[in-house]
Amino acid sequence: MNIPDYITSVLNILYSHGFEGYLVGGCVRDALMGKTAHDFDLTTDATPEEMLEVFKDHRIIETGLKHGTVTVVSGGENVEITTYRIDGAYLDNRRPSDVTFTRNLREDLSRRDFTVNALAYSTQSGLVDCFDGLSDLKAGVIRCVGNPDTRFGEDGLRIMRALRFSAVLGFDIDHSTAKSIISNKLLLRNISSERIFAELKKLVCGQKAASVISEYSEVFFSLFESVAHNKEMFCKNATTLSLVPNDHCARLAALLWGFDDSSVTSFMHSLKSDNHTHNTVRTLCSYYPQKLSYDKYFIRRLMSEIDDELIRALADINSVHHADFDRRMFLEQYSAQKALNPCVKLSQLAVTGSDIISFGVPKGPKVGEIMQKILYAVIDDECANTFDDIKKYCMIIYNS
Ligand code: ATP
Ligand code: MG
Repeated sequence: MNIPDYITSVLNILYSHGFEGYLVGGCVRDALMGKTAHDFDLTTDATPEEMLEVFKDHRIIETGLKHGTVTVVSGGENVEITTYRIDGAYLDNRRPSDVTFTRNLREDLSRRDFTVNALAYSTQSGLVDCFDGLSDLKAGVIRCVGNPDTRFGEDGLRIMRALRFSAVLGFDIDHSTAKSIISNKLLLRNISSERIFAELKKLVCGQKAASVISEYSEVFFSLFESVAHNKEMFCKNATTLSLVPNDHCARLAALLWGFDDSSVTSFMHSLKSDNHTHNTVRTLCSYYPQKLSYDKYFIRRLMSEIDDELIRALADINSVHHADFDRRMFLEQYSAQKALNPCVKLSQLAVTGSDIISFGVPKGPKVGEIMQKILYAVIDDECANTFDDIKKYCMIIYNS
C-alpha cells in the first residue's frame, strides 16, 4: 500500500508508545482496488487523552475530541485519528445517542457500514479483515456489516451510501442488503437533506449510476415527490446518465430533463442545494425541449448563460434526446465562436453601471435591466461594444 510519509510517521509514533494504529475505511478499500487514496482515516486504541500526550510535540486540533477524533498536524498535513469506538443506542435512525471508546479494533470495525469499508491496515501487522471485506471487494459486492435491517435502522443514510458506493465503485449490492434497502427506504426521510444531497451528488457521478437509479427508483420516488409524478420519465432519464459528463450539475440536469421548472426547483429545494448547483441545474433544464441551434447568436446567448464545460454537457444531453442533433457540428460552431472571444458577459461590456447612470438612468434596478438589454443587443450584433455606440443605444432604449 502506498502510504505517504506524514501518515507513516504518525503511525510510528503511536507504535513507539505501545499503541495500535490502523488506516481504515475508504483509503484501505481504494488502495486494495489499486486506486490512489485521497484521504487517510486513522484509528487507534489510544484514548483522546493518550493521543494528546503522545502527540504533545505536534500541533493538535481538538475539534472532534468528544467523538474520539484528534487532528494531528504532521508534515504540514492534517491527520485525523479516531479512538476505536462503540456506538451507543440509535434512537432516531440517525445518530448514536452516545459513543464509548474501546481497546478492541474488531468492535470499532463492527460499527462500520459495509464490509468493504470495514477493512483496517497497519504498517506493523498488515490487513485486518473481520467481516470478509476482502472477498466482497474482489467480488465487487456491497454488503452490510451485520444484519442489514438493524444497520439501516440505526442510520438511514446508509441506504443512500449503499447506492452511492454501488454506483461509484461499480459494485453490485448483496441480495439481503438490497432487499433491506427497499423495505427500509422510508428511513431516509429521517435524514437531513444536506447529508442525502452529499451522497446523491457522488451517486449520480458514479460509473453505475444509471443502473443503480433505475433498479432502486422506488427509493428515489419515496424521497422525492417532485419526480414521483412521472416515474417513466425519471427512469428513462436515469438510463442516459453515462452519456453525460461526470459532473454533478450536468448529471442532475440529465436526470431531471423534461420535468417542469417547479418540479426541478422543488427537487433541488428539498435537497437544500447550494445556490450555484440549484441555479445551474435549473438553467440547464430550462433548455428542454428545444434542440440546440447551430446559429451563432443562439450560441453566444448560451455562452452568456452557461459555463464552458456545461455547454458541452448540454450538447450531450441534447444528443441523447434529439436523434437529429449533430453534436459535432454544434461543438465546432461553438469552438469557432469561442475563438472569436465575443462579448457575452456584462463584465465584458465597454460600459459599467456607473456609465449607465452618467447617461441619465437613475440609480436602481433599471440600471441592471438596461445593462442586460445592452448585452443582448451586443450579442446580437445590434450594437457595437464601444462606449459611444452603447451610449447611443442606451439613450434610445431608455427613452422608448
Ligand atoms: P470516500 O471518502 O471515498 O467517499 P469513505 O469510505 O472514506 O469513502 P467516508 O464517508 O469518508 O467514506 O467515511 C469513512 C469511513 O467511516 C467509512 O469507510 C466507514 O467505515 C465509516 N462510515 C462513514 N459513515 C458511516 C455511516 N453512516 N455508518 C457506518 N459507518 C460509516
Ligand atoms: Mg473518506
